[in-house]
Amino acid sequence: MILRRVMEHVRTQNWVAVGIDFFIVVVGVFMGLQLGNWNDERRDRDEEQEFLIALHREILAGRDVYEEKLAARTASHEAMQIAIDAIYSEGDGRELTDQECLAIAGTSILVLGESSLPSIDRLQANNRLSIISDDLLATRIATLQQSLVTADDRNFTRQSAVNLSSKYPEAITTTPYVEDAPAQVDGTELRLRFQCDVAAMQASPAFRNDLAWNIDLYDSFMRDVVQPYSRSIDGVHEALDAALGVEPGEHAGADG
Ligand SMILES: [Zn+2]
Repeated sequence: MILRRVMEHVRTQNWVAVGIDFFIVVVGVFMGLQLGNWNDERRDRDEEQEFLIALHREILAGRDVYEEKLAARTASHEAMQIAIDAIYSEGDGRELTDQECLAIAGTSILVLGESSLPSIDRLQANNRLSIISDDLLATRIATLQQSLVTADDRNFTRQSAVNLSSKYPEAITTTPYVEDAPAQVDGTELRLRFQCDVAAMQASPAFRNDLAWNIDLYDSFMRDVVQPYSRSIDGVHEALDAALGVEPGEHAGADG
């Protein structure tokens, strides 16, 4: 319709009218593009808001379990350090406490136990991380992703850690026992009790070398994997609370 009108104006050499037609077309195209942009922008903001709420829910859901694991691992790391004093210092014949023995037996268990955050994976899979408009949050999510990449890179440490109770049964004895566990299907859980013989550990240079190797791996696992992950998940949560306008104290009532 507008084309026929333009042709008519050109034929009659009505250049003012041609100019006006041209102007109408330009404004129309511009308005169309602008409306499209506004729609995209609004869709991004809606999607971002949904993402923030979902991520916050996932972090809260996984937080208690993760913090429990982190506390157990940190306690175990400390017990390990006290235990190696008893094992490596000649003359000190004291036996290990249950916790120290458990820590020594567990030096080969290098598992991050991260809480899963499917909303970040989904955003990344759809190449939509750019909808995050909060710069601090975007940076902290990138740091978190990086810490998970590092954790994957350090997978080799898990394979090279020595299972001490299996290789040195004379130094670490393993006894299975059944414990009540209401959360399990049958109400019980099979657990392992470890018993350490410090004299046998001290008598075996091979055991002490393998233990030293495990302890070294565990140290780097705590330093390069667990602590960076823990810091970055806390950082994401903090930025997320700020973006959502959640006061840190507001969680207390909901989940302790
Ligand atoms: Zn929060």
